[in-house]
Amino acid sequence: MHSKKFGYIFFFIFLLSLNLFSLNLDEEIKIKKIPTYFIKNVQYISLKSFLKIINSDNWAKIEDRVFLFSDETQIKFRIDDTTVIVGGKKIEIKNPPKEVEGEVLIPVEDFSKIFSDFKTPEKKEETKKIVSEEEKINKKFIIVIDPGHGGHDAGAIGNFGLKEKDVNLDVCLRLEKYLKKQLENYPFIEIYLTRKEDIFISLEERINIAKTFNADIFFSVHTNSSRLNRYEATGFETYYPYSKVVTDILPKSNNEEEQSEGKNDESVLTKILNNLNETDIIDESRILAECVQEKLAERLIIPDRGAKRGNFYVLKYTPMISVLTEIGFICNPNIEFNLKDIEVRQAIAETLGKSIIEYLKKREIIK
Ligand SMILES: [Zn+2]
Repeated sequence: MHSKKFGYIFFFIFLLSLNLFSLNLDEEIKIKKIPTYFIKNVQYISLKSFLKIINSDNWAKIEDRVFLFSDETQIKFRIDDTTVIVGGKKIEIKNPPKEVEGEVLIPVEDFSKIFSDFKTPEKKEETKKIVSEEEKINKKFIIVIDPGHGGHDAGAIGNFGLKEKDVNLDVCLRLEKYLKKQLENYPFIEIYLTRKEDIFISLEERINIAKTFNADIFFSVHTNSSRLNRYEATGFETYYPYSKVVTDILPKSNNEEEQSEGKNDESVLTKILNNLNETDIIDESRILAECVQEKLAERLIIPDRGAKRGNFYVLKYTPMISVLTEIGFICNPNIEFNLKDIEVRQAIAETLGKSIIEYLKKREIIK
């Protein structure tokens, strides 16, 4: 007879505030009695212990690559590789991370140096808050934003040298910031980016990141070019998937996010989503794509090319609601000029943010 006791429940949420926290790995290991391992006289700790220390449980491992995410920083390294990328900065270490029996091991000394000024979220204030019935379920809602291209893959390049990869990243970083601010009263909504710096990430990796985070929405941002780089090409468009395919073994992508036209190339290895209703997910994707087009149309003066079905790799193989928006033709010099302007980028980012918020409201995920 406890179910009707409270209409609302009271609970504590911890407001996370980011404080610069100088991380002393050696000290943490001693105080917390964390087990360490020695390989050829080099001291290692497990990745799991390390994540506990930096207070993060967001990470992904794709083949030999490991991605860690904290609120402010993205860290990337490879097993047996001495290059570590921290917030876009390449750092060379002496001893590479190792993998032993499926466990990722991190060299203590090297990582101590790297993370001596690493930002970790510190639990600071406790606040009492009344939460609604929906919120108390404690279900997270995850949005993964995907800035197209990066690293050696520049994407489309304008006639005056503006690169698609840079526009996509900048717009996505602004979008992330905008959404985090607008959704700060909804701590169950979490937002991640597939990349936060100018690095190459394959299409397979992007999908695996979304899967690892168990994302509810995968939101890919591109800047299109017409096939012949037509000067007069203009407008913006948003794609949603033709079909969804769930598979653990992703077919090889060519890493150019181009539509594979018309054909249905589901291999025997793949099986159509059955536990998640494929039609529902495609339908929801369409509704989100329409929100994006509607909001962009309110804001931009260039033609609305509509929400349409597209056979893009990342739309097909992500098992969640997914859209790919093309925010303007970089091959058109006028648009290229506009996309160089940070105010235009900010406006586009906010507009994309508003469309996501509109979708969340439609689905009563937020009020
Ligand atoms: Zn692109």
